[in-house]
Amino acid sequence: MKFSINNVLVVGLGLIGGSLAKALKHRRYCQRVVGYDRNPAELEAGLALGVIDEAARDLRQAVASADLVVLAVPVKATDAVLADICTALRPQTLLTDVGSTKGNVVEAAQAVFGTLPATFVPGHPIAGSEKSGVAAADEHLFERHKVILTPTPASSRQATLVIARMWQAVGAQVLQMDVARHDEVLAATSHLPHLLAFSLVDTLAAEAANTDIFRYAAGGFRDFTRIAASDPTMWHDICLSNSDAILAQLDRFSAGVEKLRHAISTADSQAMLGIFTRAKASRDHFSRILSSSAYSQNQHSQPVNYLAYQGAALTGSVRLPGDKSISHRAIMLGSLAEGITRIEGFLESEDSLATLQAFRDMGVVIEGPHQGAVKIYGVGLHGLQSPPGPLYLGRSAMSMRLLSGLLAAQAFDTCLMGDVSLSSWSMEQVVRPLRQMGARIETAEGGLPPLRIRGGNPLHGVGHRLPVPSAQVKSALLLAGLYASGTTTVSEPTPSRDHTERMLQGLGWALDHSDGRVAVQAGGQLQAARIDIPGDISLAACFIVGAAIAPGSELLLEYVGINPTRTGLIDILRLMGADIEFENATQVGGEPVADIRVRYRPLQAIEVPNALLARASDELPLLMVAAACAEGTTWIRGVGELRHGLDTLLQAVVTGLSELGVEALMGPGSVCIRGGSMGGGALNAGGDYRVAMAFAVASLRADGDIYIAECACLEAAFPEFVALACRAGFRIGKERD
Ligand code: NAP
Repeated sequence: MKFSINNVLVVGLGLIGGSLAKALKHRRYCQRVVGYDRNPAELEAGLALGVIDEAARDLRQAVASADLVVLAVPVKATDAVLADICTALRPQTLLTDVGSTKGNVVEAAQAVFGTLPATFVPGHPIAGSEKSGVAAADEHLFERHKVILTPTPASSRQATLVIARMWQAVGAQVLQMDVARHDEVLAATSHLPHLLAFSLVDTLAAEAANTDIFRYAAGGFRDFTRIAASDPTMWHDICLSNSDAILAQLDRFSAGVEKLRHAISTADSQAMLGIFTRAKASRDHFSRILSSSAYSQNQHSQPVNYLAYQGAALTGSVRLPGDKSISHRAIMLGSLAEGITRIEGFLESEDSLATLQAFRDMGVVIEGPHQGAVKIYGVGLHGLQSPPGPLYLGRSAMSMRLLSGLLAAQAFDTCLMGDVSLSSWSMEQVVRPLRQMGARIETAEGGLPPLRIRGGNPLHGVGHRLPVPSAQVKSALLLAGLYASGTTTVSEPTPSRDHTERMLQGLGWALDHSDGRVAVQAGGQLQAARIDIPGDISLAACFIVGAAIAPGSELLLEYVGINPTRTGLIDILRLMGADIEFENATQVGGEPVADIRVRYRPLQAIEVPNALLARASDELPLLMVAAACAEGTTWIRGVGELRHGLDTLLQAVVTGLSELGVEALMGPGSVCIRGGSMGGGALNAGGDYRVAMAFAVASLRADGDIYIAECACLEAAFPEFVALACRAGFRIGKERD
C-alpha cells in the first residue's frame, strides 16, 4: 500500500503531542497539522501558539479525514481513545502513538481491532521534560533524540518506513525494537531512575529536618532529583502499565543497594571500591558511547590525515607513553596476584583499557587509570569471577590471545568478542595449541571470534613448538600453563618478546627460561608488586630513526624499555653507523630500562643480518626509511618467514617510498632500497600505524611536504604522537575529513 500524507491529526495536545505538531508544522512535513484534545482550552492555546493549523472539535470526524493519526494522550487513556476512533479510521490511514510503555498499547489495540492493522506502528520518543501541557511545546524537542518504533508482527514495512520518516523529519534518530524488549529496556533506563528520584525526594521531604536538607542540598542532589518533578499522573500510569518489568528492575536494584549497605556496615573497603570503580568505569564508558567514542577519548573512528612539513631536526628530550605489551600484562598478572599492585606509566590506549575493563568485568577491583597510575586489588590465581556477559575487547588482538589462554583454565564459561576488525582475525594459531592442552574453545568459522571458552576443564601441560615466533601465542600458553598439570613448554625458532616471562618472574613465579624456550609449571603464587612501566620502545622507534636521519639532531628519549627482544632496530641502526647510546641503564621489575640518546650521523647501507630481523619486525617500515637516507643499497631478506602479513606491510612502505622518488623494490620475502634524496608527495598509510609513523619520519629528510592519508590508526595506537613529535621538532599538522 502506498501512503500519501497530507493531513496529520495529533490527538492529545500536551507536551509531546504539541511538540510533535509544532515541529511537523514548522518543517512543513505535510499540508495540514490538526490537533485534538479533550481540553478545549489546550486546543485554543495550541492554535494561538501556532502549534497546529486547525483545531478539531469532533474526534471521529477528524480521524476520518486524516492520513496519519498520532495518539499523544496519557497511556491509561489510550484504550478509550482507540475504542472511540477505531471505526472512523480509513483503511489507508496510518496510526501511531507516543506512549512511554508499549505492551499495554498493543494489548489495547488488539482488544479494539481484533486483528492488529498493518497500518498500526507503535512508537515512543525518548525525549521529554518535567513540564506538561501545550504551553511547553517545543519544536526542537526531538532533535538528536531517539525514537523507538515497536512495529507489531502485523505492521507493514511501508507503514513503518513512513512513520520512521515522520520522526526523522523532526530531527529524531529512529530505532526499532520489539514490544517486550522495549518495556524491559525502558523499565531499567527510564522508569527505575524516575521512581528512585520520586522515592528519594519523598523520603527526605518526610524527615523533620527537611528544610535544612533541601536548603543545603548540593549539585548531586539537584541533578539526581530533577526528574522527581515529572508529571505524577503520567508516572502512575506508567507504573501500572509496565508493572512486571518495573518490579523486576526494582528487585535487582534493591539487591544492589543491600550489597552496598552490607559493605558499608562491615567497613568492607574493597567491596565498596569495587562497586564505585565499576560504576564509574561504566558511566565513563557510557558517556563515551553517547559521544560515539569507545574506551579512550581519542576520536579514531573519524578519518584523520597528516601533513608533515619537510626537513626538521629533532632536539631536546621526550618521555614516551608506557609500553603497550607491558601495560596489558601488568593488568592481567596484577589481577591474579595476591595483594595490591600499583602500576605507574600505564598506557591508556583503547586496547589496554579493553583488557582493564575485562578484568573489572571479572570482579577485580581496579582504581584508575589516572595519569598512568592504576591500583589493582589482586584476587589471586583462583579469584576471578564469571563476568555478567561476553567480554568485549574492541580491536585488541593482544587482549584476545592472552585472555584465551588464561580463561581456558577458569572454572566459569566466557565469551570473547571484538569489533569488526578484530572479528576478522583468525585465532586458530592460539586456539589450536590450547585445545591440545585440553581447553574447550569454540570459534566462528575459520577460527574467527567470538571465542566461546568452556570453564571447569582440567588442562594438562604439553610441549609446543611454534612454527613462527609469537609472543602472544607463547604468553597465552604460559598463562594456561599456570593452571595445567605437568609442564607446559613453548619453544620458538627465534625468541619473541619475553615480557610475560619477565613479569611472571618479577612477581615471584619460577620459570625455566632460556633462549627460544620457556617452561612453566602450576603450583606457584604471584605476589603483588610496584610496576613502573617504561616508555614503549616501539613508539620510541620513530624518534630514534628520526634523530638518526635528520641532520642537526640530538634527542634524549627518557626511561625507555630496552628489553633485548625489542631492540633489533637499534642494533641494526648501529650497524649502519647510527650514534645511539644508552644512559642510566637499570632494571625495573625484571625489565631493562634506559635513557636513549640519539645524535645525527650519516648512515651507511648494509645487508641486514637475518638474526636481527625477528627482533625488529614491527619497526621494519621505519628501518626502510632509514635505508632510504643511507649511502648505498640496503637489503632486507627473509621477511617471509618472520610473520604472517609482513610482506603486505612492507609493500605499502615500498609503494610510499617510490612515490617520494626513492628506488625501492620488493621481491619475494625481500626488500631492497637505494639511499638518496626524497621528495614530497601524497601517501596513504592504509590504516596501519607503523606505516603512518614511517611516512611522518620520512618528512624529516624530504625535499617537499608529505601528505599522509588514513592516520586514525596512529591516533588510536599512540594518541600523543603529534604533540610529542612536534615538541621534539617534527612539523606535523592534523586534518580531519
Ligand atoms: P500531557 O502534557 O499531560 O498531555 C496529554 C494531553 O492529552 C493533555 O492535554 C490531556 O488533557 C490530553 N488527554 C488526556 N486524555 C485524553 C483523551 N481521552 N482524549 C484526548 N485528549 C486527552 O502529557 P505528555 O507529557 O505530552 O504525554 C503524552 C504521552 O506521551 C503519554 O502517553 C506519555 O507516556 C508519552 N511520553 C511522555 C514523555 C514526557 O517526558 N512527558 C516522554 C515520552 C513519551 P488533560 O490535561 O485534560 O488530561
